[in-house]
Amino acid sequence: MTTEDYLDAEIETASPEEIQHLQQGKLAKQLDYLFARSAFYREKFEKVGIRREHYRELSDLSQFPFTTKEELRLSQAACPPLGRHIAADWADVIRVNSSTGTTGKPSFVGITRRDAEIWTRITARSFYTQGLRKADAVIHAAGLTMFVAGLSSKDAIESLGAVFIPIGTGASEKALAAIQFLGANAMHCTPSYATYFADFVRREAGLDPKDLGLRKLFCGAEPGAGIPSVRNRLQQDWGARVTEGLGNADMAPIIFGECPNQSGMHFNGQEFIAVEIIDPDTNEVLPMETGVTGELVYTSLERECVPLLRFRTRDRVTVTGTVCPCGRTSLKLRCIGRTDDMLIVLGVNVFPSAVKDVVSSFSPATTGEIQIVLDQPGPQVVPPLRVVAEFGKAMVETATLKTEIERKLKAALSIPAAVDLVPAGTLPRFEMKGQLVRKAYENGGKGR
Ligand SMILES: [Zn+2]
Repeated sequence: MTTEDYLDAEIETASPEEIQHLQQGKLAKQLDYLFARSAFYREKFEKVGIRREHYRELSDLSQFPFTTKEELRLSQAACPPLGRHIAADWADVIRVNSSTGTTGKPSFVGITRRDAEIWTRITARSFYTQGLRKADAVIHAAGLTMFVAGLSSKDAIESLGAVFIPIGTGASEKALAAIQFLGANAMHCTPSYATYFADFVRREAGLDPKDLGLRKLFCGAEPGAGIPSVRNRLQQDWGARVTEGLGNADMAPIIFGECPNQSGMHFNGQEFIAVEIIDPDTNEVLPMETGVTGELVYTSLERECVPLLRFRTRDRVTVTGTVCPCGRTSLKLRCIGRTDDMLIVLGVNVFPSAVKDVVSSFSPATTGEIQIVLDQPGPQVVPPLRVVAEFGKAMVETATLKTEIERKLKAALSIPAAVDLVPAGTLPRFEMKGQLVRKAYENGGKGR
């Protein structure tokens, strides 16, 4: 390994103790700032009897209260435009993004110039970890308007000296032209879009996506690229290396990025964000050890506009390692889904992405496209779990295939499922994030 392998070699290869020491000092300053500038947090702390002097070292963080998305939403509704949790002056805010969330009502997130610099650094570090270099040209085939990883990806990619090509969404002709005429060799998009775009290239241009020369796929915004069968298919379709990133609209656009070792996403916010993994049912802090699964919690260490303490992301993650052949010392993880997407079948937690993984593993007998059909609002599901899956091109007797998939779902996920097989191309394709669940109880049974 040489320093060229890292964007910030010193911090990316520092020992966990060095990072903790750095974080400990920065959190003290962030708390000073919160007590001085945030009425939202002063009130929260007062309610639970927490005072500034209760923080002496990093482990004291676990005594502080969590912050939830719902609290931020209420704070924003009560005190528009940005909420009571905003700790900077409006005059110092330089950009506002939004996250749509599950309720559909956008929540706004502002940043100051210093916040933007930090976002650029963390996001650039994540892209660099994923293998982006100065000579690359990247198609940004994802949201640009209001999307937190839109303009901040532009800033980050340009800061590395690579070429940023702003395609946006719903513009596959432009994306194809950028590859053909500009020689773009990398793409930043959702895994759903990478799948959709491969079909588009074959169908509309009569070309094999592999021949286009796209060699680096940076995926994010949904768990797909971390599902082995989905990733394998994308890599075969494009002849590209797929790595994924993970961020959060309220904290920073891309905080975790996977190195070419492809064994999980490295944490890249070392000096700007403290990470905890908690048991979402007991709220207990879990050890950062390989195999640990829980909810990801972020604390900002240097944030002006929206400093957040112990923010519950609702992202369910599993730690995949604490050492890596790439030499980075930060923990690696995979996101298995959002708490909001989780279903419970006979007491077993099931993420739609896990069902998709099982069904995709039957490729080419299945296309890998699935839909879970809910007859009533989740997360509790009356068994069996209804799964619609597409059979692929391979000649397999569908009755046998149905039984095999149901058996494997039972073996892998411990849940009873009823699988309906439909012809390839029947289920809807999504250009942005995939929709793996159809709410049959909405819109007179026709809900998506
Ligand atoms: Zn690595």
